[in-house]
Amino acid sequence: MDPRRQVPRTDVVLADPRLQDAVARLGRPAVKAAVGAAQELVRGGRLSPSEVADAAVAALPSTAGGLRPVLNATGVVLHTNLGRAPLSRAARDAIVAAAGNTDVEMDLTTGQRAKRGRTALAALQSAVPDAGGVHVVNNGAAALVLAATALAAGKEIIVSRGEMVEIGDGFRLPDLLESTGARLREVGTTNRTSLTDYEKAINPATGFILKVHPSNFEITGFTSEATTRELSALDIPVVADIGSGLLAPDSLLPDEPDAATTLRDGADLVIASGDKLLGGPQAGLLLGDATLIERLRRHPLARALRVDKLTLAALQATLTGPETPVWQALRVSAEELRRRSLSVLERLEEKGIPVTLVESVAVVGGGGAPNVQLPSWSLSLPQRYAVALRTTATPVVGRLAGGSLLLDLRCVPPEADDDLVAAVLSVA
Ligand SMILES: *Cc1c(COP(=O)(O)O)cnc(C)c1O
Repeated sequence: MDPRRQVPRTDVVLADPRLQDAVARLGRPAVKAAVGAAQELVRGGRLSPSEVADAAVAALPSTAGGLRPVLNATGVVLHTNLGRAPLSRAARDAIVAAAGNTDVEMDLTTGQRAKRGRTALAALQSAVPDAGGVHVVNNGAAALVLAATALAAGKEIIVSRGEMVEIGDGFRLPDLLESTGARLREVGTTNRTSLTDYEKAINPATGFILKVHPSNFEITGFTSEATTRELSALDIPVVADIGSGLLAPDSLLPDEPDAATTLRDGADLVIASGDKLLGGPQAGLLLGDATLIERLRRHPLARALRVDKLTLAALQATLTGPETPVWQALRVSAEELRRRSLSVLERLEEKGIPVTLVESVAVVGGGGAPNVQLPSWSLSLPQRYAVALRTTATPVVGRLAGGSLLLDLRCVPPEADDDLVAAVLSVA
């Protein structure tokens, strides 16, 4: 018989209560598409007609967001392609709570308009008491653009040739800055720039001096640079792009600059990302001199770079809440990772999976702390598991090395170890 005659009708399949529920959660087109794909399998003789509804249910995503949650088993704590910092439970809850109508710009006691995101800004300010004022925009790049536009459009930004960095994916800081109408005045050489180099470049058109932390590489050997402290003695505003987002020093990352120290060293403005080492949502943090911050806040461009209520909620929860997943991933001990990995290994071996335990090295990532190596342990599987694991219901992304797939548990939340075991078993 023609298999097409056996294909259950779409309206009959859609009457399944699980799919009705899915229509309410995901929208009709997504559910119809899943049913259509399952019907297609029946036509191809690869699914029995009675299994269409089950197959459609299994193929549907858990949310309508389009982005699929994955387990980061790469050993890269801030993986840009996997969305950098995973948010804390507190930040996730805050996002859900802020998702409806909120008092983001209203004082509920007076019923009057109030400063947007004032509680998140207050939390940032109290996390960095050395800052006279704070402002938040969409990301670090936006913070740089705002500073360059408001303080140096039509003027010059003095920057060392050793700090003209490419952030990633082809975005180069010099191009970004010049797109604002500011001109760059490059000083010094790739490996050495002195205070005198900056001094000689100062002229009536100087907008500010920019210090950039070259987060994703290190120049070693015959090098020198003028420090923020030295530059602050010149009578020109110093803007420091520290990149990583550490608000205070972290003994684990002694070479990473932090906002508090940079301000105390005399920077007038510090720029940092929210979704790197701070472990929060994507955001660009601006901290520093109250007058400068107010100028940025009042600039027309600020409106185009302003952050969403969801970002403000997640940022505040990150600043005031418990330790972030990033903090935990950086600090979990190699012994603890070995213990968890062994437990996973035993469960996989029991089912005949060809898996071994190997020592490995995890890194900070996100273009930060390139020299920091975090001793780790990884489960090693045959390379053929890689694609299957990336495309299964709970995708697991590992790292390929020497013909094997390495799964490092450092950035996998401990409560997700069961999901990782289930994912490997599902593709075995
Ligand atoms: C990451 C980084 C940026 C860009 O920040 P985004 O938040 O990704 O826009 C700028 N400068 C430095 C030094 C960085 O490390």
